[in-house]
Amino acid sequence: MSVTKRVLLAAPRGYCAGVDRAVEAVERALEHHGAPIYVRKEIVHNRFVVETLSERGAIFVDETDEVPEGARVVFSAHGVSPAVHAEAAARNLATIDATCPLVTKVHKEAVRFARRDMDILLIGHDGHEEVEGTAGEAPEHVQLVDGPDAVDSVTVRDPENVVWLSQTTLSVDEVMETVRRLRERFPALQDPPSDDICYATQNRQVAVKKIAPRVDVMIVVGSANSSNSVRLVEVALEAGAGAAYRVDRVRELQDEWLEGAATVGVTSGASVPEILVREVIERLDALGFSDVEEVRTATEDLMFSLPKELRADLKKAGKLQRGHRPELQVNAS
Ligand code: SF4
Repeated sequence: MSVTKRVLLAAPRGYCAGVDRAVEAVERALEHHGAPIYVRKEIVHNRFVVETLSERGAIFVDETDEVPEGARVVFSAHGVSPAVHAEAAARNLATIDATCPLVTKVHKEAVRFARRDMDILLIGHDGHEEVEGTAGEAPEHVQLVDGPDAVDSVTVRDPENVVWLSQTTLSVDEVMETVRRLRERFPALQDPPSDDICYATQNRQVAVKKIAPRVDVMIVVGSANSSNSVRLVEVALEAGAGAAYRVDRVRELQDEWLEGAATVGVTSGASVPEILVREVIERLDALGFSDVEEVRTATEDLMFSLPKELRADLKKAGKLQRGHRPELQVNAS
């Protein structure tokens, strides 16, 4: 008897509101101001998006000192520290700040707690751009805690005046474990006023947890430097997927991963255009996984307005309406 090969497609998946806004900001800046538009760091952590925007005239740089004096630069969705804003001003750059508003929220929390002279324990991954930006808001007060195993080496000035914050794209369960261990050491540890792990990260993890116990293999579409995509692989394995792999593009998918599998789960990180998921679904279809069931655990309709500097320019030109972008379109599920 032949086994029905099926795909469980997680929803929500793919683009979040912050990524959608940041990508559109670069596209609209290119349309309105013309190429080149400089972008500090990858606008979002997805290679296809970066390559597509590069072809249209975006120039990606690591630091603002690589941008010619007086040119226009977009800051990525991950956010930048005040020092980067100051460098850009000193070089007379025209800036468009595409920092996700949910990252800006964490920046503001850091500033507020630093004003109260609190020790801020920032749970996040060392070297991630978002963490560098948030820590840069209050470098004298912020201490990075890179997961539960880093808790033992934390030292604070006053255990009664400590708060934790986190990177927006972490595993919810791992952060809770880190907080639990921090609280064992510092019982007066204060929580942030609201979740720092953003709605999109949480929703994608919940959807993966729902389908993971039913799949032999989970395929997560996303780039290696995309924190939330890498977390989805870990979450899938913890929630019971037989195996889980991350692919940037369909060409990385290896047929032997699927040998003996009857059910394959598919999802994508928050920086991944839906077109890349479609490629994977088509490949799975060619391999006999033709029965596709979407499993939805939440509906998202959040949308952020474009960065204010760009909005002002577009408004003057009467071009403020949000556009539709075929190649880098919003998750169509
Ligand atoms: Fe914003 Fe969350 Fe998307 Fe990051 S993953 S850009 S914090 S909505």
